[in-house]
Amino acid sequence: MSTGANEIRARPSGNGPEPAPGFEVRSPADGCVVGSVPDRSAEEVRAAVGRLRGNQPAWEALGPTGRSEWVGRLRNWLLDNDERIAALLQRETGKPWQEATLEVPGAIDVLEYYRKRAERFLADSHPRPHSLLTAGKRLTIAYRPYPVVGVICPWNNPVLLALADAVPALLAGAAVAIKPSELTPLATREIVRGWREDVGAPGVLECLTGDGATGAALVKEADFIQFTGSARTGREIAQRAAGRLIPYSLELGGKDAMIVLADADLERAASAAVWGAMFNSGQACTSVERVFVEAPVYEEFVEMVAGRVRGLRQRARGGRFDADVGALSSEAQLAIVERHVSEALATGARALVGGKRADMPGAFFEPTVLVDVEPSMRCMREETFGPTLPVMKVNDLEEAIGLANDSSYGLSASIWTRDRARGEQIARRLEAGAVNVNDMFVNVFAIRIPQGGWKQSGVGARLGGAHGIRKYCRPQSVTATRLAPKSELLWYPYSALKSKLFLRVTRFLSARDWRRRLGRRPR
Ligand code: NAD
Repeated sequence: MSTGANEIRARPSGNGPEPAPGFEVRSPADGCVVGSVPDRSAEEVRAAVGRLRGNQPAWEALGPTGRSEWVGRLRNWLLDNDERIAALLQRETGKPWQEATLEVPGAIDVLEYYRKRAERFLADSHPRPHSLLTAGKRLTIAYRPYPVVGVICPWNNPVLLALADAVPALLAGAAVAIKPSELTPLATREIVRGWREDVGAPGVLECLTGDGATGAALVKEADFIQFTGSARTGREIAQRAAGRLIPYSLELGGKDAMIVLADADLERAASAAVWGAMFNSGQACTSVERVFVEAPVYEEFVEMVAGRVRGLRQRARGGRFDADVGALSSEAQLAIVERHVSEALATGARALVGGKRADMPGAFFEPTVLVDVEPSMRCMREETFGPTLPVMKVNDLEEAIGLANDSSYGLSASIWTRDRARGEQIARRLEAGAVNVNDMFVNVFAIRIPQGGWKQSGVGARLGGAHGIRKYCRPQSVTATRLAPKSELLWYPYSALKSKLFLRVTRFLSARDWRRRLGRRPR
């Protein structure tokens, strides 16, 4: 069976010299071949990680300031090549031009945040000793990078996600191998080429193209895995990483809930729901996948949402700003969306707008609003990752919270109410790693706070101020003795006198009342 327009196949060998094994990359919008990349074998991955491992010590030795200089040159290269990267991204993902142009600025925002702060976040710290045993010692925490970090990426925001993870790791002093999705490797590969050839930066960044087998080979070689993708693959990576006892951070899928309370600004909430569900054709981990609306405003909200979705423009080709919703990334993804929607329609849901594959070539699904949905439907339980917006009426907040939390995922959620303080309180009752009050996706741009999923949505977190760079480091504790007598109280030879002295002093310091300090027993 064909996997459709975005199918990526090994090149046919044909007659003559055997071409290097590789993949063709096709645009999901029209099926045209937009490039080809090598399919890296396990041996090639091992060799590449070996090269990175060899180059990493000199990179670490540059220190945060030296590394920041190289990363600053990458920033300049990205700014000089932003349109070209966006064009590549648009071709390989099928997203609208405006969405393709967001990825480089988003990546630069993260890059600049960490570039400016790397020195401070990675500086040694010297906590004061807390007890007798370490009195007189100088304590140091030094942040030493994992030598090679593997960054494995999905296809929905290839450049933004790859750089948001790879740049903090580079600044931390690690060498980085990026494994882009087999569906969208071109823009990422071009950036890594720019780093090596145009910027002339040290050989501490590689792009290893290939499919899941290449990713699995990287998990076998790297010292830390930063993964973004599905929960299914995340679980597999966690198991393999556990076998090697290497750490990992997993950013996985979601089934984000939006709760619209009766006192919400409905105009804003409706616009946010439509953008939050349709952005990137619904292929964002934090897409709105379920909306729960309090009964008094349900009809009005649904009408507003349906009107806005009817107005969205979906086109395969054309000018740069004449489409709002693009293609899905592949025929396989389109099949998932079709299944969720058709099952919902067959079991009682109604499509107020859309509801089927778009009548045009390419992997397009109509922007869709579903009502009369039930929590048991697949479209309300599994990640759809498509341009669909299922809306459900609820009696009150309690019912909305119960339904929102009834999910194996817990990535993010949003609450809509004019009472901001109440919204912030409700956030504490939601089982999600991030909650936006009266806003959509805005946590994703808040680099100072961590982005991590709960439940099946992830392990660990990305960004989050200092955490976002220190996570790529192993804290190294160094204790140095300032006063160095010939022997210490705890060392040989053991004696009754030393033991008594030690026990008396520690008792005196740890007790909080005079009877115990002086060693008196209870009467
Ligand atoms: P996927 O899990 O199929 O693939 C992700 C990457 O893992 C690809 O590069 C793939 O080649 C690689 N891979 C596949 N099998 C592997 C294995 N056994 N070992 C190592 N690597 C392997 O995910 P996808 O379909 O590309 O992406 C969509 C998913 O990503 C959705 O679930 C979405 O919610 C999630 N996502 C999460 C975030 C987040 O920050 N939480 C962001 C974007 C996307």
